[in-house]
Amino acid sequence: MPSLLARLRESDDVLIHYAPLHSMLSEDWGKPMEVHLSQWILEHPDRFQDALARSYAAGCDFGSTSTQSSSAWRANLFGLKDQVRRLNYESARLAREVTPPDKYLVGFCSTTLPEFLQPAGTLTPDQVRDGYREQMEALLEGGIDVFMIVGNQPDINLLAIEVARDLAPDIPIISHCVYYHGPRGFFTMMGQTPREGARMLWDAGADVVGASCGLMRKTDDYPTPGETHYYEGATELLGLLRQAGDGPLSIQPNASLSRLAEGKTVYAATPDEMLREVPNWIDRGARIVGGCCGTNLDHIRAIAPLIRRHNARTPSPRP
Ligand SMILES: [Zn+2]
Repeated sequence: MPSLLARLRESDDVLIHYAPLHSMLSEDWGKPMEVHLSQWILEHPDRFQDALARSYAAGCDFGSTSTQSSSAWRANLFGLKDQVRRLNYESARLAREVTPPDKYLVGFCSTTLPEFLQPAGTLTPDQVRDGYREQMEALLEGGIDVFMIVGNQPDINLLAIEVARDLAPDIPIISHCVYYHGPRGFFTMMGQTPREGARMLWDAGADVVGASCGLMRKTDDYPTPGETHYYEGATELLGLLRQAGDGPLSIQPNASLSRLAEGKTVYAATPDEMLREVPNWIDRGARIVGGCCGTNLDHIRAIAPLIRRHNARTPSPRP
């Protein structure tokens, strides 16, 4: 199999993102919401591996270590600060065991929440670097192929990218900002536009940049009940990210905002709606497509045939 970067460079293939196990495991594999994700995974390795294997079978080209809650800062919230190395290494090792040779295992590094980097918070750049270094070393030892760096504060992404490059100069890095759609358009929590966010991540050395989670459409933009058109917000956002440059883009919108119905978390955006919008994402430069919270394997199965047809008709690697 060509490396991820060679494939992106030498073909027009579009790839399907990892399934959002943080949301799927709670909905379908019995993980209680309040239990720390990696700790639950280590206690239920068979269920984690089953979910991951099913996501590959459904069409995902990527699998995730699902270690977004296992940075030093987020593990600390659960009293697990001294377990960061084990949580990340073991999650990667378990995921590696069920990742087929033609798929890519993503080492997921997320925010420093509830803490922020100075001046928004009190973390120093060195503290941020040290925290990511511990997590990333363990993920690399566990056998990941790609780093996924997602954050609310782009300056933190930049420090994480710097550490990843230092530890593994050739590893592909996908980095996303989280954007929120308000009255003045899309912004990160720290006020960057999509164009600014994407430019920052590319300049820092990310290979693929994009957006995930957040709020990709204003709730009062929702048309008639039963039709969310939520994924159209992702299309608009991709158009703005594209203004930052020609590199490969990646997109993972939520399946709309969640709401509680009869005690269950419900997301409104359907697999059919995603299928309808994916061609527009590809038109705007998305090379890796998928969904965040609320996306399930039905969404993946819905778009997989379209992606397969796209990849079959695009020319094979250019000379
Ligand atoms: Zn999400």
